[in-house]
Amino acid sequence: MKIKFWGTRGSIPAPGPDTVKYGGNTTCVEVRLKDNTLLIIDAGTGIRKLGLSLIKENITQINLFLTHSHWDHIQGFPFFAPAHFPSVEIDIFGRPPAYSKLKELLADQMEYRYFPVNFDDLKSKINFIEIYKNKFTINNATMHIIETNHPGATHALRIEEDGANFIFLTDNEIHPPTLPKNPYKDFVNFSFKADLFVHDAQYTPEEMSNKKGWGHSSYDQATQLAIDARVKSFALFHHEPEHTDKDIDAILMKCKRIIKKQKSSLKCFAAKEGSEIEI
Ligand SMILES: [Zn+2]
Ligand SMILES: [Zn+2]
Repeated sequence: MKIKFWGTRGSIPAPGPDTVKYGGNTTCVEVRLKDNTLLIIDAGTGIRKLGLSLIKENITQINLFLTHSHWDHIQGFPFFAPAHFPSVEIDIFGRPPAYSKLKELLADQMEYRYFPVNFDDLKSKINFIEIYKNKFTINNATMHIIETNHPGATHALRIEEDGANFIFLTDNEIHPPTLPKNPYKDFVNFSFKADLFVHDAQYTPEEMSNKKGWGHSSYDQATQLAIDARVKSFALFHHEPEHTDKDIDAILMKCKRIIKKQKSSLKCFAAKEGSEIEI
């Protein structure tokens, strides 16, 4: 399985000279299965460039999983070029209750007052697929779902193919101030021994103290979860828009210190827009 980051930023795009290394686009990740089946996770602004590369490839079948409907996860969809091609079929996967409004949420942001092309005028064939169970399959891959601790209904994915395991778990407040939707041990079990673990690490511990209940985690909390779940590799994700490349480099050093102190073999890096990983 190959994983490519097209958008790593949280909340709002943050372009500019200070964010060139880790990127300014919001959440979008491409997953390729061994048979080249395409799964896209989220449609943040990173999906625009992904769309252009898919057009060059002449792709006709696209699977898109939306974790939730916050702007930084859907805002790129109107600019996703394949959606405008009649030869393309897009299956959009969503989980109730988010699903019940999924089409509405994508369509609303394309209303005439916000965007010149109406959702119903898109030329591709778009199917909405409602997922009721915590497990479903796409070709050779098995997907597991867990609800995250985040305002509104938000879901994380575990993708398994031929023994390789990828966890995409963003927009998750590991230790929320109110009753969690899922307790810590459930996230440990869900992520256990994954090859690649991508997790929300938006804040520093100092920032976290002012942002409780916003649905995100600090880098030290995410690192601890990665250590406890004994994953092989951990990518810090959903970078805070106010954090520069230098800030993220400093955060990464602190994560590595935590890992060293606990004598863990965990590999840790910060997700970079444009980078690709094979597991
Ligand atoms: Zn987000
Ligand atoms: Zn969110």
